[in-house]
Amino acid sequence: MASYLETQLDFIYFFYGLAFILLGAMSFVIARVRPNLRDARLIGLFGCSHGVTEWMDMTTLIFGDSNEFAIFRSAMMTLSFIPLAEFARRGAVKLGVWMPGAWIYLPVLGVLGVVGHVDGLDAARALARYALCAPGALGTGLVMLARRHKVREAGWSIAVGLAIAFSLYGLAAGVVVEPAPFWPATIVNQAWFVGATGVPIQLVRGLIALVLAALIWGAWGRRLIHAFDCPRYTAYLQRQFYSVLAAMAAILIFGWVLTNILGGIFRTEVEREAASTASLLVNSIADAVGTADAVVRVLAASPVIAPLLVSPERANRDLARAVIDLHVETAGASRGFILDRNGHIVETTDRHDFDVLGAASHKTTVWFQSSIGGRTGRNLQIDPFSGRQSYVSSLPLHDPAGSIIGVVALEVLLEKLDARLRGFEQAFFLLDARDVVVLTSRPAQLSRTLWPRPDMVPAAPEQPSSTPHSEPLRHAVTGGEWTRFGGRRSYVLRSVVEGTPWSVVLTLPVAGITASRLLGIIITLQLALTALFYFFGRERGVRDRVQQLLRSELQERAAALARQATTDPLTGLHNRLRFNEGLAQELARVRRTGQPLSLVMFDVDHFKEVNDRYGHPTGDQVLIRLSQTAAAQLRQTDLLARWGGEEFAILLVDADLHAAVEVAENLRRLVARTPFDQIGSVTASFGVAECRPDESADSLLERADAALYRAKSNGRNRVEIDAPVIEETVALSPAESGDEPQQRSDHKKPTRA
Ligand code: GH3
Ligand code: MG
Ligand code: MG
Repeated sequence: MASYLETQLDFIYFFYGLAFILLGAMSFVIARVRPNLRDARLIGLFGCSHGVTEWMDMTTLIFGDSNEFAIFRSAMMTLSFIPLAEFARRGAVKLGVWMPGAWIYLPVLGVLGVVGHVDGLDAARALARYALCAPGALGTGLVMLARRHKVREAGWSIAVGLAIAFSLYGLAAGVVVEPAPFWPATIVNQAWFVGATGVPIQLVRGLIALVLAALIWGAWGRRLIHAFDCPRYTAYLQRQFYSVLAAMAAILIFGWVLTNILGGIFRTEVEREAASTASLLVNSIADAVGTADAVVRVLAASPVIAPLLVSPERANRDLARAVIDLHVETAGASRGFILDRNGHIVETTDRHDFDVLGAASHKTTVWFQSSIGGRTGRNLQIDPFSGRQSYVSSLPLHDPAGSIIGVVALEVLLEKLDARLRGFEQAFFLLDARDVVVLTSRPAQLSRTLWPRPDMVPAAPEQPSSTPHSEPLRHAVTGGEWTRFGGRRSYVLRSVVEGTPWSVVLTLPVAGITASRLLGIIITLQLALTALFYFFGRERGVRDRVQQLLRSELQERAAALARQATTDPLTGLHNRLRFNEGLAQELARVRRTGQPLSLVMFDVDHFKEVNDRYGHPTGDQVLIRLSQTAAAQLRQTDLLARWGGEEFAILLVDADLHAAVEVAENLRRLVARTPFDQIGSVTASFGVAECRPDESADSLLERADAALYRAKSNGRNRVEIDAPVIEETVALSPAESGDEPQQRSDHKKPTRA
């Protein structure tokens, strides 16, 4: 699990950064919509800057790191913690806890700078976590817990959830990535955490940030729900919350799989390239030593070599030397030699050997030991004086009785092979039987082991024994492995040279793989952003629609209220208020156009008696029926209103006095003829006036009212105009109509309610 997750570290950093940026964005949103949560901008600043720092960390996995970039990132990370600490500080101050002022960050930054200078970046980073991030996050958690009742709108449970998540983040922030030379960074670090839990701390911190982002988003959603108080919108937001969580999870999982697939394509490519390069190397080495092995076999079987050891006379010597010379030349070897049982050279192709003849013994060499014991000797060696690498192949020599009497050996210098392999771009190492590097394209590693071999005495005297961790690999490699080589993520392949105890180790850096994984990460980011824009854009649209709906509802209610204010509730006719408005408008129009305008007022005769005899409800029914009758009689443009009680007014647009009298007369007759349930019939008296140029509303009403009064006084159920100009109209009244009902009482001057 842990080693698998290590290969996923780039994606984990991406996820980590994304989660913090989301947390930051949500905090900015809530700070904008809630003025009393303006400090949430500090969390926004922390989340965004911290997320960006994590993404910068991710790029180092792909493009590598530099000292300057590492300092820049450490500074960014430290600065990103300050808004978090500041949020906690301000929160504590608001709660009445004594806190130093914001100046405190200056000495803290100063100390961090000094620690970074003296103890290195890892120490400064660890201290920044202890001094700013962990207390900032824990403090933020405590502040939120203390203020949970103040943010009632966001919900008590969300506030407590935020408090818990921030506290957990504070604890997780205390786990440093690289160990630092002081407690607790010496123990509580990434290596310890991975060992204890199997997951990198970045994954845990990323998950906490995601939970925080979701909680803040939930708080924002609750605020919206609260503000709109619309069940459909509430249901929509709740659905959207879970949809976004599901979509984000799906995108992250898909992106993760895609990233692995894309990385895998290059991975396979790298593995294939390594395998073919390794086999090329193995073949070159096998070729170089194979010829030597074959020639030694021929020499050991030669009938002129072994006899030299039995009877070393001149003839035998000349013959043996000729044979060896010939074979050494054919094999391209540097020298061939015959040794006696004591390891002393008896015959050699190298003149130099004669100078030391008798002095040097090869008795202790590995190859001599093997061959004198009856086995094939094959040995890669580095000359301690010249530093030249060579290969020695040896076989035992037998007397006719079959007992071992000496050894024949052939030495091949690996200079040519070495020169060829040194031109090699990739790092490769040829290891001997003890895993010591004998041939390599990285000379610094020569005569050393690639991984710790505590069982072994250092092979080369110059190897410092006090540096146990100087090996580029942490452990022995068999076959192919994706691991760190000298601190760099690499693919390491070890292949055995067929028929020998040696192996070739090849390493390829993996920048190409992570770059291809970057493509997967970028696609994931794009998908995540698209999904978020879609969801939030849709939410915006829905919110706008809801707002529009609420607005039009409000408008409708206002219109209904306005209608109510201008309508008579009993008859449904316009009331006096509306009538006065209409009258004012019409008067203005008349003034503009000079068109005629007339006013008719009528009042039910002896209505009090109707009420008295048949009861108020029956009286109401009469008024309703009368309104309907009058309304049906008029044009659309005329304005009919209940003036008050059983008195009505009609504004006749574009009608002169004559036309108005006609309308009034028709209506009078119609009323008198209309049968009313229970009571039979009623009559009404009418007063008519035509508007004079520049006449006021009051004056016109006055004159119509006076005419009505006259109609009452002149016997009721008749039409009167404000001045007795048109005699015939007045004469038309009761007598002609023939529908004069019983007169009940004298008319009193009508009063306007
Ligand atoms: P006149 O011929 O002189 O107009 O006699 P009148 O009885 O109609 O005159 P008066 O103004 O004295 O009486 C009006 C009556 O109308 C008094 C009141 O009880 C009645 N009235 C006013 N408004 C309503 C109403 O909304 N419903 C009913 N049922 N009666 C009403
Ligand atoms: Mg009346
Ligand atoms: Mg009246």
